[in-house]
Amino acid sequence: KDFRNNVKPNWCPGCGDFSVQAAMQRAAANVGLEPENLAVISGIGCSGRISGYINSYGFHGIHGRSLPIAQGVKMANRDLTVIASGGDGDGFAIGMGHTIHAIRRNIDITYVVMDNQIYGLTKGQTSPRSAAGFKTKSTPMGSVEQAISPMEMALTAGATFVAQSFSTDLKDLTALIEAGIKHKGFSLINVYSPCVTYNKVNTYDWFKENLTKLSDIEGYDPSNREEAMQTLMKHNGLVTGLIYQNTERQSYQELINGYAETPLSKADLNLDQQYFDKLVGEFM
Ligand code: SF4
Repeated sequence: KDFRNNVKPNWCPGCGDFSVQAAMQRAAANVGLEPENLAVISGIGCSGRISGYINSYGFHGIHGRSLPIAQGVKMANRDLTVIASGGDGDGFAIGMGHTIHAIRRNIDITYVVMDNQIYGLTKGQTSPRSAAGFKTKSTPMGSVEQAISPMEMALTAGATFVAQSFSTDLKDLTALIEAGIKHKGFSLINVYSPCVTYNKVNTYDWFKENLTKLSDIEGYDPSNREEAMQTLMKHNGLVTGLIYQNTERQSYQELINGYAETPLSKADLNLDQQYFDKLVGEFM
């Protein structure tokens, strides 16, 4: 099971996204997938290129729309493991509406966000994850907006799997993606993935100084939603590990009548021209 292909990523040397790619490939192999069982759906941004760097089905979609495409793929072919992926601008700005609704829908896909707190592909503008005061070409006097907190947002939206990691923690990140794939429902994994070219504030060293591992907090219980929220607030969101998991709630697919029948991708739709014309006629 080799999820590497022969495409060489054109990310800048040192970009955090390399580790995310490696972790995704290792996780897919560790859970026993074959390349033909996996679909990686991405949005637009440096990180959005990831779907072309993994030996699996892939779809490089449009900005902020990786989740609608990923959900469509999963609904049409439930036999596929579907990973959606993109950056913080993709998922928490233009795609935020999709993110919230996919979370509350609890559809069985894994969403891996490469969070570098800046727009890298367009050469360094303030993103919804940039801190107040952050200076870029788009906010030369410093951003006057507060950064969004995706983990708190996810808990509030009713998420059943919320995790966060850092791209240098390859082992932990791989384990979290594995757990996300195995989770029956929507899993959100936010990865601090430094942009070494444009973000000179949130660097590897900055994260090493500021991140707290949940495994170092004695007695932390990821099944306790209230504790998860309090811990995020206490640490300003700068924690890594499994923040929250609810294994009780059923996924979207489990709640949909008829979903257990033949998936659309395998159904014999037996569409003849007459049927098709009638169907189209109903909408005219
Ligand atoms: Fe990575 Fe930043 Fe380079 Fe984009 S611009 S590839 S995010 S380091």
